[in-house]
Amino acid sequence: PDYGAYEPLAVERVAARLAAYPEVAARLGGRPEDWQVREVGDGNLNFVYIVEGPAGSVCAKQALPFVRLVGESWPLPLSRSFFEHAALSRQARLAGTVPQILRFDGPQALIVMENLGTHVIWRKALTARERHETAAPILGRFMAETLFRTSDLNLSAAEKKREAALFAGNTALAKITEDLVFTDPYRVHPLNRWTSPELDGTAAKVRGDAEWKLAIQELKWQFLCSAEALVHGDLHTGSVMVSKAGDAEDVRVIDPEFAFYGPMGFDVGALLANLFLSYFAQDGHGPGAEAMKAWLLVQGTRVWDAFAARFSELWRTERRGDAYPASLFEEQGQADASEAALEAFLARLQVDALGFAGAKMARRILGLAHVSDLETIEPPALRAACETRALALARQLVVERRAIATVSAACRRAAILS
Ligand code: ADP
Ligand code: MG
Ligand code: MG
Ligand code: MG
Repeated sequence: PDYGAYEPLAVERVAARLAAYPEVAARLGGRPEDWQVREVGDGNLNFVYIVEGPAGSVCAKQALPFVRLVGESWPLPLSRSFFEHAALSRQARLAGTVPQILRFDGPQALIVMENLGTHVIWRKALTARERHETAAPILGRFMAETLFRTSDLNLSAAEKKREAALFAGNTALAKITEDLVFTDPYRVHPLNRWTSPELDGTAAKVRGDAEWKLAIQELKWQFLCSAEALVHGDLHTGSVMVSKAGDAEDVRVIDPEFAFYGPMGFDVGALLANLFLSYFAQDGHGPGAEAMKAWLLVQGTRVWDAFAARFSELWRTERRGDAYPASLFEEQGQADASEAALEAFLARLQVDALGFAGAKMARRILGLAHVSDLETIEPPALRAACETRALALARQLVVERRAIATVSAACRRAAILS
């Protein structure tokens, strides 16, 4: 898009601006003067408004030319909104489970979508020790469908390269991950922070830990070079919204502005990391943590099991891409070789996911952007105790990921640490 006409939304102008989009005005009903607008953004990057009219409501998300968390001193391209919309529409088609898009205005870097008004951010529900039983299996399935169906297992090599080329422009957001996840926590950097002084010694030890840094660079190399599939790129528990109405639950994935062609294990690892962070944070949120902790570890294995089960189904029924062609296996009566390849493929992805999980955990404790699960723990000494145990698992996941090998083994390691 050409951003020449770009104008940041001010809260008092949102209604008048949205009135120009017929499908949005129709959903809201009545007149713009009657619409209630409030800013609800709690993320690090963008502004998000909820608009309520007599007939319905919408959510409007606009990118700004800088990072919200830091301010105008850190520019960030508006094009992230283009990539978010491109990813959202692909996820909607390939897997569902995302908010419905009502309008995309490229030059305004604006996405108007379904308001998930009765949903809450999963991270907050987990801290409140609420259990949404369908989240883990739905997310496992979401990742299998989006990752398989955007890869060379399902697309022709030409189609996949066209898709990868489209998302290759999202370099600024990838660079944030490259720096904040794979680099800065392991060196002195002005944007790093941690619970200080309690973790000062730990942070220094991590910066001097050559084994950890080498393993992190192997993962960074994969992140940079392995264009396996369209990854969401920011699939933590703050990018999942859940609702419970009676017995019925609903689960949605939001905020794919980091989307790019990367390693399949990255999304699975991000989600596991945030379940583990919630696990280690539970001891900081009052008595009675044990039942929730046990439940959280079960969710980790359920994410992986659902992912592997759906990925396996797709391997058997939708392997139409140029990779592992059925003409070499099933069509020559060698389905068993294809099954062996699937098993090896999943085993490798599981190891990748464990490594990325460790990387995503450590950066939330030693890097710029932290998670509310841990940040809200007081006093600092208690928070630091939780963070120290989380960091111990993070190191094991990164350095020993091949030996640990499975999500259930990683959960046993977590249980031993806390
Ligand atoms: P950022 O990119 O800045 O992290 P998010 O897309 O994560 O922005 O949105 C920030 C917050 O806005 C979310 O945590 C959630 O509370 C709210 N939000 C985002 N999308 C919706 C939606 N479709 N419906 C309702 N609330 C939403
Ligand atoms: Mg977000
Ligand atoms: Mg902190
Ligand atoms: Mg975001």
